[in-house]
Amino acid sequence: MADENFSFSEVDNVYNSFLNPHLKNTLCWYISGKCNLNCSFCEAKKSDHDSSKELEYLTKNWINFREGFQNLQGRWEIFLLGGEPLSVPGILDILRDLVRNGHKISLATNLSYSLGYYKKVLNILDGNLCLFLGTFKPEYYKPEPFLKKAQHIDYLVKRYGGVFGVGAVAEPDYLDYLYTLGFWFRERNIKFKLQKKRVNNVHINYNKDQVCKIKEFGRRFSSIEDQKKIRFEETDLFKGRVCLTGINYFFMNSFGDCFRCHNLTHYKVNNENYLGNLPNGTLKLFKKPKTCPHSYCTCVLPKIKGLIL
Ligand code: SF4
Ligand code: SF4
Repeated sequence: MADENFSFSEVDNVYNSFLNPHLKNTLCWYISGKCNLNCSFCEAKKSDHDSSKELEYLTKNWINFREGFQNLQGRWEIFLLGGEPLSVPGILDILRDLVRNGHKISLATNLSYSLGYYKKVLNILDGNLCLFLGTFKPEYYKPEPFLKKAQHIDYLVKRYGGVFGVGAVAEPDYLDYLYTLGFWFRERNIKFKLQKKRVNNVHINYNKDQVCKIKEFGRRFSSIEDQKKIRFEETDLFKGRVCLTGINYFFMNSFGDCFRCHNLTHYKVNNENYLGNLPNGTLKLFKKPKTCPHSYCTCVLPKIKGLIL
């Protein structure tokens, strides 16, 4: 069970000051579990994860996916998550198509690629970029070279009209290290946020000492302005509250199945959370807001976008 006294607002606000609050419609797309790294604590990509079926499905059905994106009413922020979205074969063409269809893009990348590759990506997204979120992987990166790269990318992302920040999972064994890194990021003016760790989509329980460290991290490394902007809930329990997911927001898996939100404990086709399939043309968003039926919410974006009323 998650610790109810440990507020979402303290730590899980990776995106809080990065996002454009005026762009209301968000499609969170888990494009594939494929990743070029293999972090020991990875939840998205378990060691036995086989992404070949997902990728084959995407390649075979891309025309249908593209039509589905064209048919979305209005302009959507499409937030690409993985795995590592930029390791998906053909991703540059996919990004080109999404932008041509008038959508805006946010993405989370592990920042392991060359600057040249990131420049290519940013060129495609020029003027249509929202958040470019780098993730720091303590097992793989040494701080100095990582920070140099992050500074370059920060500069480029701003030039291309987006917002850059770095997030890291608050892995208990790495908390002291991440805390020290917070100073390095601050010196270089790069936003650096922690995200609560989840296992099987439930936030882990941190002990008191760890909670103190994470809270202190939030206080020390968020600007006063950012802290003022944070008006998040002090709980992860919203059952019975009106939640606009399914209208302004939905989550899509790598097979095009769409769900009201990213609540994996309810991640089954044909239940109340299911909205249909985008590539096969059966996606139907809710016409009216509905209340939250779930006993526990681990969805980051609906919270920070203010969709839970
Ligand atoms: S970079 Fe992310 S998706 Fe890839 S193995 Fe590490 S934690 Fe998993
Ligand atoms: S679990 Fe969270 S995002 Fe999903 S319906 Fe409930 S409050 Fe909304």
